[in-house]
Amino acid sequence: MLGVWFEITLWKRILGALVLGVIIGAIWGPGSESIGWIGDLFLRLIRMVVVPLVFVTLVAGVVSMGDPSKLGSLGVKTLALYMATTLAAIVIGLTMAVILQPGVGVDFSTATPTTVQEAMPLSDRLMDIVPINPVAALADGNILAIIFFALLMGVSLLTIGEKGRPVADLMDASSEMMLKITHWVMEVAPFGVLALIAEMAGTKGVAALYDVLALVLAVVLSCLAHMIIVHGLLVMKTMLKLSPTSYFRGARDAMLVAFSTSSSSATLPVSMSVAEENLGISPVVASTVLPLGATINMDGTALYVGIVSVFAAQAFGVELGLADYALIAGSTTLVSVGTAAVPSASLFLMPAVMGAIGLSPEQIAMAVGFVLPFDRPLDMLRTSVNIGGDLSVATTVANWEGEFDKEVFDRPLKY
Ligand code: ASP
Repeated sequence: MLGVWFEITLWKRILGALVLGVIIGAIWGPGSESIGWIGDLFLRLIRMVVVPLVFVTLVAGVVSMGDPSKLGSLGVKTLALYMATTLAAIVIGLTMAVILQPGVGVDFSTATPTTVQEAMPLSDRLMDIVPINPVAALADGNILAIIFFALLMGVSLLTIGEKGRPVADLMDASSEMMLKITHWVMEVAPFGVLALIAEMAGTKGVAALYDVLALVLAVVLSCLAHMIIVHGLLVMKTMLKLSPTSYFRGARDAMLVAFSTSSSSATLPVSMSVAEENLGISPVVASTVLPLGATINMDGTALYVGIVSVFAAQAFGVELGLADYALIAGSTTLVSVGTAAVPSASLFLMPAVMGAIGLSPEQIAMAVGFVLPFDRPLDMLRTSVNIGGDLSVATTVANWEGEFDKEVFDRPLKY
């Protein structure tokens, strides 16, 4: 019996759990909240892995690189790709919002005005990268600060050579250990996903989405277009000459977990493991590019914020010119760097972008209040796109840096 369960490939178990979760939620209604603890338990397990995994794999990754100067070119390429793909996502989102006009004729008067605190200013966020106390950064789960300190540790281990061997070996063994734990945690995913989805469908109700069909359509189509055109055709097929199907097949476990958890940072352990095991990305690239991406690269979030800003402007009858669209694109790219990789983080970005195109604080509060009730299902979708964005950039950087194993990428998955 147990053997049969494990023989079913993990992504199929997760997908099955997702479908079953929706059905259970729809039948059980708000009562499904009572199994919410299973979802919370899964989230706790997966979040438990993030900090130690990022820290040890990053140190071990830098040491295995052998040459610290490689880190510079890797960093520049990663950042450039992250910016470029985010901008592409916003352009797709804005184009869709202009074509579909989801906000025209929408009445915000029924919404409960909601004021959210704006995301931390970019300058503070940049300063925060240097931890005053690395142990506190680990304890707080401050990913950028952890990356900074782990990079320094890795480079210093390389610099001191033989003397650093014991620590380097410890980090290497620890990263193997953390990946093993991640695998075990993933076995809990189907149960966690079922509970999370049942609770969401039972309490929030997917039916709310019908009220804002045009907006939902714009978001769904943009997400699909971005994944298919940018990640699949442009990056994989045209730039890297790789099969988009193999890419999506390799990335699907991570994208499904992103869909269920709505959190890029909670999905990080899974994306790191699929990157190495399914996509042929070397540990050094996976451990540097992905944690950074989970924190600063959000293609789905960026396109969503762009669409909702245009949606609000249309609903309030604010005319937008080319300069306004450029402003939305620029400000969304910048603020998306400062978004926490947690559920509904987009809501905290919107005020800055909507403010930039001239909406008043009252209008912003109404717009945020309007999208709030159905944010969760859309968050699930955009978080999958965020994770897809991180993995496609990691695949590209691995290719460019000679850190890619095509055999692993092309190999049919064993599950
Ligand atoms: N939930 C998203 C993430 O973690 C952020 C957002 O709200 O758009 O990637």
